[in-house]
Amino acid sequence: MSDRLRVAVDREACCGSGNCVRTVPEVFDQDEADGLVLLRQPAPAEADWAAVREAAYNCPAGAIEVTQG
Ligand code: SF4
Repeated sequence: MSDRLRVAVDREACCGSGNCVRTVPEVFDQDEADGLVLLRQPAPAEADWAAVREAAYNCPAGAIEVTQG
C-alpha cells in the first residue's frame, strides 16, 4: 500500500471554531495564543482517515485540505 492520506490546513482561512480538534485531536490542535488550527500530524495513521475526512467536510471555513495518493 503506497497510498497515504495527507492533510494541510490554511490558518489564514481558519476561524478557530475548534470542530476539527474535537473530531480528531490526534491530528489537529488549537493554538492557545490565537485559537487557530495547528496541524499535529500531516500524514495521519490510517485509523484516523475517516475522522480526518469528516473534520475536513465539517470545517466551517473550508480550511482543511485532504489529499490521497
Ligand atoms: S474546523 Fe476549520 S475553522 Fe474550525 S478550527 Fe478547524 S480548521 Fe479552523
